[in-house]
Amino acid sequence: MIQLIYVSDFARELNQQDFDDILAVSTKNNDEQDITGFLVVNGQNFFQVLEGSKEQVFTLLESIRRDPRHQNLRVIISEIIEKRDYPNWSMGFVCNWYNYLSDDIKSVLIQYGKTQVFKLSHGKGLRGLLQGLG
Ligand code: FAD
Repeated sequence: MIQLIYVSDFARELNQQDFDDILAVSTKNNDEQDITGFLVVNGQNFFQVLEGSKEQVFTLLESIRRDPRHQNLRVIISEIIEKRDYPNWSMGFVCNWYNYLSDDIKSVLIQYGKTQVFKLSHGKGLRGLLQGLG
């Protein structure tokens, strides 16, 4: 099993309906594929954690990458895991991020949204910060 975290940039201004649409299709499809994870938006970027079998996560990633609602998808970390961080979420979602998240997470999400190339330490740090959101 693997866990993958990516960041991408909104391709245009997105609204609540866009997020609801993404969440609805994700919850349904991911449940069928035994994929779990979390989606966070920071107003300009998506951050998504995907967990599941390597084949299914990478197949889904390529479908998500082609989605015209976002662009410039960068994988932050992809690693083998023994245990899921989000076993109960076919796709958890934080939309009202500014009110909901701690200052630590907010500042990392703002900084990472502008970052193009990530080191392993970035990914491990982000995974740790996001783990509490399950
Ligand atoms: P279709 O619905 O037939 O989609 C056909 C094409 O149109 C695809 O390229 C699709 O990306 C695009 N599309 C669909 N709806 C819209 C729309 N409202 N506006 C613009 N383009 C659209 N899907 C999951 O199953 N699991 C996930 O975890 C997941 N996470 C996502 C995270 C992000 C940040 C985004 C932007 C999308 C995510 N999606 C996820 C949606 C995914 O990209 C596909 O839309 C979905 O899987 C259905 O694709 P499809 O080709 O089977 O079907």
